[in-house]
Amino acid sequence: MTHCNFYIDGAWCEPIEPGALFPILNPATEESVGTVSMGGKADADAAVLAARAAFDSYSQTPLSYRMEMLQKLQAIFERRYSEMAQAISTEMGAPWSLAYDSQAECGPGHIKATLEAAKDYPFELKSGKGDLYSEAIGVCVLITPWNWPMNQIMAKLAPALLAGCTVVLKPSEFAPLSAKLVAEHMQEAGYAPGVFNMVYGDGPVVGAALSAHPEVDLVSFTGSTGAGIAVAKAAADTVKRVVQELGGKSPNLIFADSDVEASVARGVKRCMNNTGQSCNAPTRMLIEKSVYAQAVAAAIAAGAKVRVIQPSEKGDGIGPLAMKRQFETVNRFIAIGMDCGARLVVGGPGRPEGFEKGYFVKPTIFADVSNDMPIARQEIFGPVLCLIAFEDEEDAIRIANDTPYGLAAYLSTNDKEKARRVAKRLRAGNVSINASGNEYCNPFGGYKQSGNGREWGRFGLQDFLEYKIVNGL
Ligand code: NAD
Repeated sequence: MTHCNFYIDGAWCEPIEPGALFPILNPATEESVGTVSMGGKADADAAVLAARAAFDSYSQTPLSYRMEMLQKLQAIFERRYSEMAQAISTEMGAPWSLAYDSQAECGPGHIKATLEAAKDYPFELKSGKGDLYSEAIGVCVLITPWNWPMNQIMAKLAPALLAGCTVVLKPSEFAPLSAKLVAEHMQEAGYAPGVFNMVYGDGPVVGAALSAHPEVDLVSFTGSTGAGIAVAKAAADTVKRVVQELGGKSPNLIFADSDVEASVARGVKRCMNNTGQSCNAPTRMLIEKSVYAQAVAAAIAAGAKVRVIQPSEKGDGIGPLAMKRQFETVNRFIAIGMDCGARLVVGGPGRPEGFEKGYFVKPTIFADVSNDMPIARQEIFGPVLCLIAFEDEEDAIRIANDTPYGLAAYLSTNDKEKARRVAKRLRAGNVSINASGNEYCNPFGGYKQSGNGREWGRFGLQDFLEYKIVNGL
């Protein structure tokens, strides 16, 4: 049993007002593996004031010092790598291979990319006759979700520290174990008290108090679009910068001139990865009409191959959903899909055979979906794929962009010119052609209601910097 407490001003502490304890449930067994202290407004305040007090001296440290500290932190992440993978697997149910090979890797991965970006970042430039400085924006609040916990924490924390900002992290109450390790790593690296602070708590209490706090200069938020809007509204009265990384409903365009079987199989696998709990999952597969029947058959074959496994099992497969709330939401959307006339071709409601407990669901595929159905419009955040037919290139682009979101888009074609043409017209921050992946040095973020910021590498660093022009030196 692990108990998760706050880390404020260089010390571990209990909530100021004794608050409720939140249970940490293993999603595969539904059994409690620990508790989280839930903070209140006073804890949020204490954390912000510690960060404010540390800002003046930390922000004035030389860049070389901050780079050395990040290198130290990276070494700790690498030494304690397996612990991190285990924490992520326990708290949100990621199967071991996913937790170890992908989830835990995001920690050292983002530190490395930030260090790389810092090497030639123009922190000081001549602009006209003046000197243009890019310097730390101030006290930063980082609010993060549970689905790729290390990706989201370290995509924010590494650039904030490098820029010279001081930080209050409010991780998801559903992913407290990995965040606790981050705080331990920060303590071990030897950051001065107040540079990094962490409070647990729910969104409406601690998240809202941090977002509205007058001593906070920036909120970097990743989570649902609804919560992102609440954060922006709470932050508006104090005119702080708000960076939002929000939800998605990403299209995956399969053109008839691609290798249809391989493209569809790849799309099914990518949608189901992390049990469908990725903001950029390709959840709407748009298929050219002339190959639609062939593609549906390929999707059924690929869907049947997706194994549901226990988190402790090695190899490919999907684990449980992270929590009961997700289990109920995903099953509700599967029922909605069946009710609104989509054709269920793989999976369906309830647990897969052989699973009596845990938040396991069946990989599910609906064919004959129209883009106005709720299952095609709303983010389900589970292993549920919609197959939608399109007439031609113009129709594919229209359907792909017909969504409030704009995080990612995927397309398969063997025609390079067509790929370029279509990619340019897709209203999304990341376009992947024929299964290409993104790299940490490139921007990650969305158009429209998927957000307004860009993370990763030098693009993530920019969010934590202010410009200052000094004339007359
Ligand atoms: P969530 O919005 O419920 O919670 C995210 C974080 O915000 C948590 O720490 C939560 O406590 C906090 N929060 C909730 N309400 C708040 C409020 N009113 N004020 C301040 N903080 C508040 O999201 P979740 O269920 O943890 O994560 C899943 C969502 O995150 C999905 O919508 C997914 O698409 C999105 N996401 C986006 C990205 C991206 O980079 N665009 C990456 C991962 C996840």
